[in-house]
Amino acid sequence: MYGKELADRYLELLNNHFIYKNDETSLANYCASITMYPWLLGGTKSIGGNSTAPTNLKSFCGGFVNMVFIVSSMLSGACATPEFLMYLNYFIEQEYGEDYYLRPDDTADLSKRRRTIDKVITDCFEQIVYSINQPTGARNFQAVFWNIAYYDRPYFESLFGEFRFPDGSRPHWESLSWLQKRFMRWFNAERTKTVLTFPVETMALLTRDGDAIDREWADFTAEMYAAGHSFFTYMSDNADSLSSCCRLRNEIQDNGFSYTLGAGGVSTGSKSVLTINLNRCIQHARRAHIPYLQFLEEVTELVHKVQLAYNENLKTLCAKGMLPLFDAGYINMSRQYLTIGVNGLVEAAEYLGMRIDDNPEYQHFVEEILGLVERCNKKYRTGEVMFNCEMIPAENVGVKHAKWDREAGYDVPRDCYNSYFYAVEDASLNILDKFRLHGKRYIAHLTGGSALHMNLEEHLSQAQYRQLLRVAAQEGCNYFTFNIPNTVCNDCGHIDKRYLRECPVCRSRNTDYLTRVIGYMKRISNFSLARQQEAARRHYGSAAEAPAADTAAGSPCAQPSGSGPAAGAAGPSNAPTDAFRTGPAAAPAERTAAGRTAATRPEPAAGNAPSAPCTDALAHDAELRTVRTAAPASPNVPTR
Ligand SMILES: [Zn+2]
Repeated sequence: MYGKELADRYLELLNNHFIYKNDETSLANYCASITMYPWLLGGTKSIGGNSTAPTNLKSFCGGFVNMVFIVSSMLSGACATPEFLMYLNYFIEQEYGEDYYLRPDDTADLSKRRRTIDKVITDCFEQIVYSINQPTGARNFQAVFWNIAYYDRPYFESLFGEFRFPDGSRPHWESLSWLQKRFMRWFNAERTKTVLTFPVETMALLTRDGDAIDREWADFTAEMYAAGHSFFTYMSDNADSLSSCCRLRNEIQDNGFSYTLGAGGVSTGSKSVLTINLNRCIQHARRAHIPYLQFLEEVTELVHKVQLAYNENLKTLCAKGMLPLFDAGYINMSRQYLTIGVNGLVEAAEYLGMRIDDNPEYQHFVEEILGLVERCNKKYRTGEVMFNCEMIPAENVGVKHAKWDREAGYDVPRDCYNSYFYAVEDASLNILDKFRLHGKRYIAHLTGGSALHMNLEEHLSQAQYRQLLRVAAQEGCNYFTFNIPNTVCNDCGHIDKRYLRECPVCRSRNTDYLTRVIGYMKRISNFSLARQQEAARRHYGSAAEAPAADTAAGSPCAQPSGSGPAAGAAGPSNAPTDAFRTGPAAAPAERTAAGRTAATRPEPAAGNAPSAPCTDALAHDAELRTVRTAAPASPNVPTR
């Protein structure tokens, strides 16, 4: 539709790695957040399955697994089911009454086992979660990538306030609220028994005046983080943005898989992702003596045209009935985005000689680059196509770009381009700095989202996490998670939510670690080599950096011994944000004790460092752990 010249230029840019097409082989939708309503009405027949609509709790659980497998087989990315718990809640109510959540210990069946309502419910969780975590042949023996969402009350009301089930009834907040909490607690506990990657969970909280509106759910969110659970939080101050934008779409796998987290409303997603390698574009422009914005504009324009051409292909397929998810109403074509990815932003700024922290020059650079993409997004938007812009958190793309650019003689400071607004190994930035660098001044133009992965080497208290939720709300950091490596014992299988050198059960030192690769928890030993190296270089902040709740900060295990989730609540819960500003200068003693110095050791100096000479990521990890365990680890910390 744009002629041969443009097609040739596209291939030229693609082959020279100025741009990258994510998951080129697929013509399906990339990833999607689906509505389950068509399934509730008609089962899976409309998408090629053979199950009828669910009529009770049992058929819901079995049918749901089938439905997710079928839908996933038609997506190259992930499948988000933001209505999952709401529908499950409906079927539990059908079975045990709308007040079931008030009497979970009632006996629910007459069999010898005399299961309680609560046991029936957790059996449902178990059936669904374990089934979906099974590898499947249709996806190269990967598990399907499944995402769910939790909502606070105002979020729930704005998303589902007008929702009606097929029988005309409406969802009930009180029981759903209970069920959400039950699922989260169950999943957190289950993850100490088995490595369960999915679902990836997002907590959606609505904010106003610098804090979450729903205090109960904000407190619960902090409680779950303090209990060692790992999930994303999405905060928005605008109910309108709930259903009108698809934020939170992230690539999570080597083969270009991605996912849409449900928080952006149901039935949305990304049709296609085309990523611009900013580091190469800017360095190339400099060498060619072209203003880099001028060159970037040419590339960005072209990327939009290629995306529109892709969209025409998709429309043709759709017209021929080859995309049943659209036909059957699981996905709404008009609510799918064409995504412009960016990669190598930090590296480009470093090349231009900027400091990568919150300073006017860097902020201006980010605004300039992302603003350019956004202007193009608006320019090419029509009644039927929408564009968004995302900082690609690509395990795969970041590594490839770094490798290709280095081979081509460009400045490449690390082996995997950052997917954050800061350099991942920079130990000079504290927790507050990172929230700020992912705050509204930096992410304003990232309509497709970018997640802050706050790496910590130890758990914080509930009060500290609660305070960080306020920091996030005040800084406008809308999407983040906390990442504390979990320890897996290779000998006895024990999984511990803490970052330990030695298994607390069998004392084995043959341990592995679970941490987030972009979206989901995975064993470090299963990472790609480059990503293992990146994992080793990550700076894991210590509790000493987050001194809101001074009672808990500083000790290697932030939780007081034997603490349940509530124990951390002792700290001053409305300490001013400034408490986090103290940063590295504060409390040097704690920092040393907490292993921060160790975390710093394998890393090169911050900023313009050459790539770290890591050949064995785990060796560095071992170093880290050696120092960590010098301080006593309390045996039964957090909640497990
Ligand atoms: Zn063990």
